[in-house]
Amino acid sequence: MAPSLEDDWVPPRAAVSTGELPSGADIETALAEAYEHCGPITDGNVADYIPALAAVDPSSFGIAVASSRGGLWTAGDAYSEFSIQSISKPFVFALVCEAIGHDAARRKLGVNATGLAFNSVMAIELNDQRTMNPMVNAGAIAATSLIPGVDADEQWSNIVAGLSSFAGRPLTMDEEVYRSEAATNLRNQGIAHLLDGYGFLYADPDESTDVYTKQCSLRVSSVDLAVMGATLADGGVNPRTGQQVVTAVTAKRTLAVLATAGLYETSGDWLFDIGLPGKSGVSGGIVTVSPGKGGLGVWSPPLDSAGNSVRGQLVTRYLSDALGLNLFASVPLN
Ligand code: GLU
Repeated sequence: MAPSLEDDWVPPRAAVSTGELPSGADIETALAEAYEHCGPITDGNVADYIPALAAVDPSSFGIAVASSRGGLWTAGDAYSEFSIQSISKPFVFALVCEAIGHDAARRKLGVNATGLAFNSVMAIELNDQRTMNPMVNAGAIAATSLIPGVDADEQWSNIVAGLSSFAGRPLTMDEEVYRSEAATNLRNQGIAHLLDGYGFLYADPDESTDVYTKQCSLRVSSVDLAVMGATLADGGVNPRTGQQVVTAVTAKRTLAVLATAGLYETSGDWLFDIGLPGKSGVSGGIVTVSPGKGGLGVWSPPLDSAGNSVRGQLVTRYLSDALGLNLFASVPLN
């Protein structure tokens, strides 16, 4: 861990980067272009290690952009629902930061990339910071175990309430996906027990794995993802409902972890191409956040070998460039 300043240290002067999305008409045009340009791409394979995910229509394709000012633009199947899967991880991590503070969350969960697959057991064995970060399954199950609640039921209720506030509407669970994953998630149970053995799990391992599996089965649409992303882009305030869901500090820390580890072991490639914090999930969704400006939600089920939506990455890349979102882009001053 890098040497850290005191938890409550505030610099004498603090600034926040600002900026606006292009006009609504320009966003609409860029979305239509992105949809048309990426529509014909059929590369990748639908996830099948969770049996219920294999049944999805691979041609499903939705895109949504939500601005920090409350605007919303969509294309294709933007309101179709799918299970959130790993995209739940940053939002649960944000809730944990709210509950225990971001420094404690960093100590207990870690914030560095593993360079290994999302469900790697080797990453736990190789690193003294066993959980590594809250975007891989080890850190994510540990994050779930840190959610406040007297028992697993209350932790689950708090997760549903928190993620629903991010989305600005009540989210519900996909029972079929939950049952399908719960019947086949021996590996995640193993990870939870291994972490428990190392003292890096903070509640009962079987119950924590079960709550984690439920959280992955929450149903969202591309529009929900865009609004959830826009909430992280807007200092933790949901721009559609006006609710302060988490603090601005929590939003900032969550985005930092996404930049490091949001796209599994190809997070570096993602940042190189797209230049924004994002998180993908095995059902084919990707949420991307443009700090201060807004959120993008994309859904297209076929995945690359790392588990990221093929078309989702290309659409996001297109929109990052077309809308001027890349955090690292600048023009010379002459
Ligand atoms: N529920 C899935 C798992 O834990 C989520 C994986 C993902 O979306 O990366 O295996």
